[in-house]
Amino acid sequence: MRFYENPYISPKEEEQIKKGAEIIRNGGVVAFPTETVYGLGANAFDENAVKKIFELKGRPQDNPLIIHIAKKEDVFLVAREVPKNAEILIEKFWPGPLTLVLPKNPSVPDIVTANLDTVAVRMPNHKIALKLIELSGVPISAPSANISGKPSATKPEHVKKYFGDKVFIIEGEVKIGIESTVIDLTVSPPIILRPGGISKEMIEKEVGGVDVLAHSDVKVAKSPGVKYKHYAPDSDVYLFMNRKDILRFLESERSNFSDKKVLVALFKYVGEEGEKIKLMGFDIVVSGRTLEDFAKNLFNLLIVAGEKYDVIIFEGVEERGIGLGIMNRLKKASKKVFY
Ligand code: AMP
Ligand code: MG
Repeated sequence: MRFYENPYISPKEEEQIKKGAEIIRNGGVVAFPTETVYGLGANAFDENAVKKIFELKGRPQDNPLIIHIAKKEDVFLVAREVPKNAEILIEKFWPGPLTLVLPKNPSVPDIVTANLDTVAVRMPNHKIALKLIELSGVPISAPSANISGKPSATKPEHVKKYFGDKVFIIEGEVKIGIESTVIDLTVSPPIILRPGGISKEMIEKEVGGVDVLAHSDVKVAKSPGVKYKHYAPDSDVYLFMNRKDILRFLESERSNFSDKKVLVALFKYVGEEGEKIKLMGFDIVVSGRTLEDFAKNLFNLLIVAGEKYDVIIFEGVEERGIGLGIMNRLKKASKKVFY
């Protein structure tokens, strides 16, 4: 399913975007919505501006940033080569939540790519992000707008919580809720470094077989970012593959949890087990009615429930479609995963 943003921009949005573009042109940093999550952006060609992103986030210098462009042909501003399979994926999935890792154009400062010879680039499918890039007149490098290691921001209030008044925030709505799929096209077969909005199945339909970076490979990671701790909320997160195990766990931990605030997030419906969990005195929330819904709620749940609960227990989902991306984030957020 392809979806195109309604391009209508309200006067208030336009005013914010103009202000944001001015900040970017002057070497500053701006938080802006994309269809995936909120980004923290700066002029990708301005080394000093990009440095501010790393400082604000507390991001390790060896974790490269994704460059965002507003026109497909601008890929040549940041990549020195665009192979055939990249062309096919660009035609099919841009604008959209697919980031391509390509050979780097020397014009991109090394700080953006953490000294790698490759560059990560995508064209977002969000009217505000696209207009911001267009008015700034430069590609914008932007990681997710969170303090390094924390859950990604999906709402303006999350950005505010992380950065206070230190960055200008353009208000808008995020559609997908988890970050883009990152695929490395400099190797054969291509390898998905991070699952996200565009699924492996969708990519394989266009360019044939691709690999997925295994969880166990992260220590020798091709994509430096994946080796770091991610999405750690302020509470202990546990991930389970089925409800019976959640019930058993809660029963065995009952005395440990007696003085703790515990939230159980069940997928799709509360059901019989959910009612039992409630009777045990724990809080219940439905993480989402569909996988898309779950993806959209996920980071908000981690951030907001993280403030209120000591423990959050998730019911996992099937690792198919966007479910693979959801489980990737949940595993990284979890203290322990029970299979
Ligand atoms: P973030 O924008 O914070 O969600 O993180 C961007 C992700 O893209 C991280 O996992 C990075 O490691 C990855 N990434 C960015 N540039 C490259 C690159 N040149 N090669 C491989 N992975 C990259
Ligand atoms: Mg991030």
